[in-house]
Amino acid sequence: MPRRGGIDTLYRKCREMTVTYDVLMYGDRLLRRKATPVVKVDDEVRALVHNLLKTMYDADGLGLAAAQVGRPEAVCVIDIPPMRDKETGTPIRENPDVRMPLVLVNPMITERDGAQVGSEGCLSFPGIYVSVKRADTVAVTFLNMENESQTVHATGLLARAIQHELDHLDGVLLVDRMSAVQKVAQAGKLKKLRKGNR
Ligand SMILES: [Zn+2]
Repeated sequence: MPRRGGIDTLYRKCREMTVTYDVLMYGDRLLRRKATPVVKVDDEVRALVHNLLKTMYDADGLGLAAAQVGRPEAVCVIDIPPMRDKETGTPIRENPDVRMPLVLVNPMITERDGAQVGSEGCLSFPGIYVSVKRADTVAVTFLNMENESQTVHATGLLARAIQHELDHLDGVLLVDRMSAVQKVAQAGKLKKLRKGNR
């Protein structure tokens, strides 16, 4: 479990931050760069994390990888809002043991199980949502904000988000997860995004 104080402070600081990065769009070659592992989680890395969180919240995203703002560090942030109970409207978390936001430094998936197919989008592919098959549950090991190794088990949408963000750290993009048919269907939008980068 993350240390409560650490993440709470992080989130509070993040809300006071004024730095928002530009999110790189599909076609930018920096999105294809493999991330460099972080040597130690220090104040510089924590500052990057604050700004990634701010950028993600401003863009209304569920996740953001450092690669998407042109930074080389193996860092990503995720915040999955709770679902609402259909009858009562009560917030329910699919992964109640995982505190949000989830900040992953040098993440590695150490276990995957089952399969899920669901709609997936990406801040670097605005307006594109495609059905992607992912593992249903994953275990991910990473460094937390105190530079300690930690493992989180996740299912459902959070597991999907973790797999999506880790793809970014390998230079793998949503377009690479599309079938040939999906690529044809999205060809017009993909072309527009690429053109925007010239
Ligand atoms: Zn993405």
